[in-house]
Amino acid sequence: MLLFVLWESNKENFEGEKKKVFLVPDYNLKNIYEIDLDKLKSNGIKLILFDLDSTLMVSKSGKYLPETIDWLNKVKQDFKIAVVSNNNRSDYIEKVRAISDFDVLGSCAKPDTAVIEEYVSNCGLNKNECVMVGDRPLTDILCGKRLGCTTILVGSINAENEGVPTRFVRWLERLTIKK
Ligand SMILES: [Mg+2]
Repeated sequence: MLLFVLWESNKENFEGEKKKVFLVPDYNLKNIYEIDLDKLKSNGIKLILFDLDSTLMVSKSGKYLPETIDWLNKVKQDFKIAVVSNNNRSDYIEKVRAISDFDVLGSCAKPDTAVIEEYVSNCGLNKNECVMVGDRPLTDILCGKRLGCTTILVGSINAENEGVPTRFVRWLERLTIKK
């Protein structure tokens, strides 16, 4: 199902009315694992920009799930990876950086593009070679649209994993509680 998000353009049309623009991600997927890496590769994508919380890791968890690490290792074979987070807590970003073998940028201020645009430029890449992946239409996807790169909206990585495994872990934890 395609998700259409409406936002008001800050440009006025000739009638002086606010122009309404549909924000439509190029792909709308259940989660990151559904990304067609072969297709991105054949489309000339070289850099994948990932939002962090809820996209690559359970929000504020500061760690990757084992299956995410496996998947990222696969991604790394064909693409440069960078995390572009709006989180401005330097201790959190440092923690994530320490467990990542790719660039991790904090304080990106998405949907503003300045920080990411500079990073992409420093990588010697252009917008046609980048894709933005994130779970938030009005920050991640809008930023990707403004950058002019391919955009992929994904569902929360938490939604996929919270059902059985998290409840199981909680159940296990509660086995240690003496009532
Ligand atoms: Mg997010």
